[in-house]
Amino acid sequence: MADNCLFCRIVAGEIPADVVHETGRVLAFRDITPKAPVHVLVIPKDHYENAAALAAADPGLAGEVVQVAGAVAAKEGVAESGYRLIFNAGPDSGQEVFHVHGHVLGGQPLGALTGRG
Ligand code: 5GP
Ligand code: ZN
Repeated sequence: MADNCLFCRIVAGEIPADVVHETGRVLAFRDITPKAPVHVLVIPKDHYENAAALAAADPGLAGEVVQVAGAVAAKEGVAESGYRLIFNAGPDSGQEVFHVHGHVLGGQPLGALTGRG
C-alpha cells in the first residue's frame, strides 16, 4: 500500500466505496462525483501510478483491469449502448489520484473525445 494513497485506502477498507464488481486483484466502485449516469472506476488492488506503469510491470493485471471494465459495462447495462474507458496520466489529463484507474463512462451520448479548458 502506497503512503497517503486514497485508492489504496479504499482497497484496504479504510474509506468506504460503492463497490460494483470485485475480483482477487481488481476492484470497481462508483465515482464519488459521477460525470455520466454510469461512472465507475476500475483499479488494480496493487498500487501503480498510471496505466503504462501497470502494463510494464504486470501486463496480465492490466488485461484484467480492462476485462473488469467490460464486465462492469455489461452489469451496468451500457455494453450495447456504448461506453468510454479513460485512463488519465499526468498533468494535462487532469489526473488527480495517482493510483491507476479506468473510468467507465456511459448511459448517455458522451460527446467529443476531448474538451479544452
Ligand atoms: P482522475 O482525475 O485522477 O482521473 O480521477 C479521479 C476520480 O476519483 C475523480 O473522477 C473523482 O471524482 C474520484 N474520486 C475522488 N475521491 C474519491 C473518493 O473518495 N471516492 C470515490 N469513489 N471516488 C473519488
Ligand atoms: Zn494506491
